[in-house]
Amino acid sequence: MSDIHGNLPALEAVLEQCAAAEEIWCLGDIVGYGAWPNECVALVRERCTIVLAGNHDLAAVARVDPATFVRDAGRAITWTREVLRPETEAYLSGLEASRPDELVGLYHGSPRDPIWEYVLDPLGARAAIEASGARLTVVGHTHSALSARLVDDALSGGPARGGAELRLRDDVRALVNPGSVGQPRDADPRAAWAVLDLDDEGRAVAVRFQRTTYDIGRTQRAILAAGLPHHLADRLEFGM
Ligand code: ZN
Repeated sequence: MSDIHGNLPALEAVLEQCAAAEEIWCLGDIVGYGAWPNECVALVRERCTIVLAGNHDLAAVARVDPATFVRDAGRAITWTREVLRPETEAYLSGLEASRPDELVGLYHGSPRDPIWEYVLDPLGARAAIEASGARLTVVGHTHSALSARLVDDALSGGPARGGAELRLRDDVRALVNPGSVGQPRDADPRAAWAVLDLDDEGRAVAVRFQRTTYDIGRTQRAILAAGLPHHLADRLEFGM
């Protein structure tokens, strides 16, 4: 999962759906935009075995300059910094934005720039696959589910809808983005995540893209009650 952004109802709904998973991995941006940063970090910390930092997490603890965030994102980071509890801040301060590996490489943004670069399409995915060197590269950050595969020099892929599945034969190198749990931007407002099947050696054999409905109204009311920009509440029902 990736890009939870303080959306506790979405995170809870996804965790309920993936209760059977052996491990849960989080690719960062646990906070920012949403009204429950401390609660989401506590839950991720309790349930996830691998956790990366995203650009919003790093801005919330001033490891990247919060001034790089403008408009709604900037106002939300300022609010988040004010409400962050010391234990949340300490935890976020210890996270890294990448976890390179030759089998499954994990990055918040991309292998070239784990904090800031967006991998938006199959062409970007090719560059990321080559930079990562991993058989499967997994990224977040764009808030849009993506699936791309490279067989020899043949590239294919595109946006990944809920229910889509990517199978990885031996000759395939691939990149996937599970989409965003807490603020999807690919026109499907349901929380996005993915199931990764690994074999006994830790090699990915399949990725299955998932969408989960949650109580969007509860999240919107909390955003407005916190005094966060109303646009951050409005966009959730459109998945934009
Ligand atoms: Zn994000």
